Amino acid sequence: MMEVRTTCAYCGVGCGIRATVTGERTVKIAGDPDHPANRGRLCSKGTHLGETVGLEGRLLAPMIGNRRAGWDKALDLVAKRFKETIARHGPNSVAFYVSGQLLTEDYYVANKLMKGFIGSANIDTNSRLCMSSAVAGHMRTFGEDVVPATYDDLDAADLIVLVGSNTAWCHPIVYQRIRARCEEGAKLVVIDPRRTETAEEADLHLPIRPGSDVALMTGLLQYCREAGVVDEDYLAAHVAVPQDFWDQLAEGNDLWSVARTCDVPAADLRHFFDLFAATPRTITLFSQGINQATAGTDQVNAMTNLHLATGRIGKPGAAPFSITGQPNAMGGREVGGLASTLAAHRDFAPENRASVQRFWAAPTMAEKPGLKAVDLFRAIGEGRIKALWVMATNPAVSMPDANAVRAALAACPFVVVSDVIEKTDTGAFAHVRLPAAAWGEKDGTVTNSDRTISRQRALFALPGEAMPDWWIVKEVARRMGWKTAFAYDRPADIWREHCRLSTYENNGARRFALPGAAQGGNAAYDAMLPFRWGGDRPFADGRFSTEDGRARLVPVAQKPLPGPLAKWPLTLNTGRYRDQWHSMTRTGLAPKLARHREEPLVEVHPADGARLGLADGGLARVETPQGESIYRVAFSDGQRPGELFVPIHWTDRTASGGRTGLLPRPLVDPLSGQPGFKRTPAAIAPVATQWRGFLLLAAELAERPACLWATRVAVPAGVLWELAGDGGLQRIEALLPRGERIEAQDPARGTRRIAVIAGGRLAGALFVTASGELPPRDWLIAQLAAPAVAPTLLAGRAPGVQADRGPIVCVCFDVGLKAIVAAIRDQHLADVAAIGAAIGAGTNCGSCRPALARILTEENSHAA
Ligand code: SF4
Repeated sequence: MMEVRTTCAYCGVGCGIRATVTGERTVKIAGDPDHPANRGRLCSKGTHLGETVGLEGRLLAPMIGNRRAGWDKALDLVAKRFKETIARHGPNSVAFYVSGQLLTEDYYVANKLMKGFIGSANIDTNSRLCMSSAVAGHMRTFGEDVVPATYDDLDAADLIVLVGSNTAWCHPIVYQRIRARCEEGAKLVVIDPRRTETAEEADLHLPIRPGSDVALMTGLLQYCREAGVVDEDYLAAHVAVPQDFWDQLAEGNDLWSVARTCDVPAADLRHFFDLFAATPRTITLFSQGINQATAGTDQVNAMTNLHLATGRIGKPGAAPFSITGQPNAMGGREVGGLASTLAAHRDFAPENRASVQRFWAAPTMAEKPGLKAVDLFRAIGEGRIKALWVMATNPAVSMPDANAVRAALAACPFVVVSDVIEKTDTGAFAHVRLPAAAWGEKDGTVTNSDRTISRQRALFALPGEAMPDWWIVKEVARRMGWKTAFAYDRPADIWREHCRLSTYENNGARRFALPGAAQGGNAAYDAMLPFRWGGDRPFADGRFSTEDGRARLVPVAQKPLPGPLAKWPLTLNTGRYRDQWHSMTRTGLAPKLARHREEPLVEVHPADGARLGLADGGLARVETPQGESIYRVAFSDGQRPGELFVPIHWTDRTASGGRTGLLPRPLVDPLSGQPGFKRTPAAIAPVATQWRGFLLLAAELAERPACLWATRVAVPAGVLWELAGDGGLQRIEALLPRGERIEAQDPARGTRRIAVIAGGRLAGALFVTASGELPPRDWLIAQLAAPAVAPTLLAGRAPGVQADRGPIVCVCFDVGLKAIVAAIRDQHLADVAAIGAAIGAGTNCGSCRPALARILTEENSHAA
């Protein structure tokens, strides 16, 4: 058995993995104890990566329309159509939309082709939706997109402030590191409109009004100034301060005004301000709650202002810290994968364009920044872009106002999609689909949130006709006529060129530089260990990447926050679930990961629910000016009244009516172009249906069930669809497989139950009720893999009394809520460690520990 050191496929923490290949497509996953990002730990998503490496649903051959085509034919067609479009309409009539899932080498080749050879900067990435406000904020204040902190700084901090980040769910391994530091005495403050599991464990939670972050941070800066905490010496030596900066700051930023704007108690605000003022070693870690806003760049700079003014940067345990969502968003930033940057941390200034052109020997350099994601899809819809290549992403799901994006894709004369998955919402619009290598087959590098570059290594041979993205792009480039410039034989060739470009005509003005790495040969690349560029603290010397070496304080002011609108009285927020990733093309394959949250829920404050006639567990329609989706309602007093929260993961292929992407507005931050996903005016109303049910199948369906509401859950040996609708069931029944049918019906109670036996096993079951009573699914699901047919199939349970396990809390050990509650009560367990010792929950990946802590708190409050 072969052990391979590689990197997790998911979030920007960038955990190292030791993967032991145990068969043709099977692998045992363990955390890499020697990787600096995770030191051997993995969260639930990383732990279950091995369940996602099968070939189910893979695109394994190039397709032109719905016809299989050879690589030559498909690549020739892509090159020809792009060349023809450019010849007829100019270079800005074509675009690439790429992804933070690409490896740095893939990204580099795509960026070079578009910006240096096609001559347009119309290449943007889904990282635009994730962290481009952090990029814009860094460039505005530091002169370069440099994250000034590392994970090690968390270990040295005495105060950790999490802003707009449900770290316990979205970056679980970083959160475990934060918890460990808190156990040593550091304080944790969470600033988030929602009381998330992260907020529940904080020393202080400030549930601020969405969008009031600038007021909070400028108020804090004013408070620090009055408290004498501003570091005048640091400012004098290292920071340019606009002339009237402090005068402007003083206006309206007193504690009471800020408390009113942020809608939090003044006493809590003062507590936070005092804590911050008294704690030099402070890390302010921020994520999508800051970035995904129409004032995202200002919000970032409100925090960088604070750290610069107090001299809390470039020192151990003191820095603002942007943490990225995607595994290689940072690698994309380094090569220039955003339309607004050129390459190797250069912008489009004439001298930078000339330098990069010299290095690439490029015939036609892009003259100016290209279209950012929202503008790019708008240009497609308006017919200005006539050929689009989408790589490793699903904009028909993930872009705001996704229905408009679908209309644009449908109208675009030529759409190419490279993906690992055969059927995606975006792929449905493609004229050409190209099979790309997946995680486990790819070879290259990624950069995580603290600038650590790690190798991702192939575990398996390429399946079918799949090829790596870098190879696909360079083959198109060569067919477009640029053979020499794209003569790469392996990722190491691209890596060395990328490293050389980082140091080319770089006199030290740009921190991003990989000098030593360019020297090694192929063997050195293969053996590369994780390393961090820029050192532990890139600004420790107080010199920044601006022309005069000084950082900038950036004047920012809170924008007015409009009150509720008559037609849209609520505010919609969107985000992630702990165990799912993006549009679930991978995590959706792992039954264990589905157990944490099996369907998309709309979280509503109970007072709003009661006022609006919603039922906890019932269905509701969420409407915005852009569209509407249906979710099951979950009452949560962690929501602020007037606000809704929905997850981003479900697509048209995995849910009818539960797609979130179509709801947010396509409004963007004016500097970064990042959409404001977090604050969409919305309304909600209950949805009544005549029946509810579930459809359990051993085999996937070609299309989702046609009814008002359906969501798909991966289960062991099959798939489960939860359903609700009106009218007859004929179309749903028709989805059951062929075989021997057994049926039961109770018209008085409105129930109908059908099971289908094929080959001596349960092949499918449909249970429907008008009253709402349905059996728990676990036992029936287990029957899909049972060697014999149970006699009580239509009862939905084994003979005798069955224990209902409740929702699964610990997916690693499959422990349900009821077992945890029983253990706490019966064994008088007092802390999370005791629960782990008693029943195992929380002792593997640790992702459920915040949930265990919450259950303990609830149990203790009941007992008290
Ligand atoms: S925190 Fe989890 S999802 Fe993120 S890189 Fe680590 S193991 Fe992967």
